[in-house]
Amino acid sequence: MAIEMDLPPSMVMRLLQTEDNDNDVDILKSHSIWLCVTCEMCLSRCPMEIDIPSMMDFLRQESMRRKLVNKQARNIIAFHKSFLNSIKYTGRLFELGLIIDYKRQSFNLMQDITLAPGMISRGKLHFIPNIVRDRAHLKKIFKKTSK
Ligand code: SF4
Repeated sequence: MAIEMDLPPSMVMRLLQTEDNDNDVDILKSHSIWLCVTCEMCLSRCPMEIDIPSMMDFLRQESMRRKLVNKQARNIIAFHKSFLNSIKYTGRLFELGLIIDYKRQSFNLMQDITLAPGMISRGKLHFIPNIVRDRAHLKKIFKKTSK
């Protein structure tokens, strides 16, 4: 993902080390923190075992909390929220629900619409969600982790 990033991960780490507020803001406003796909390649190779993916996770949350989100990340955030909403309400990934919710949030109503018939005919999109039985437990997990 580095070629798409405005700040490569090594630069994000270097700027964090400076403990300078302007640099922190630059990081939180960057597109890079939203492009990290948590593949953990950096972590597996880092001789200092720096957990960059976890830091990127933290930086994304902090960027949202401080309302410094990069405008280019709007669709990534919409997808992220739709994915979590699906898990929150069904306990599983309900693809059709995720697509509808993502389109509602991103306003990309026609994006990839031509793929739908093929996916439906191959049984990849279900119209009714498969909901976990113990939803109360699911609710507890979300309540606990949101703290
Ligand atoms: S986990 Fe590391 S290697 Fe993977 S995308 Fe994120 S920063 Fe890059």
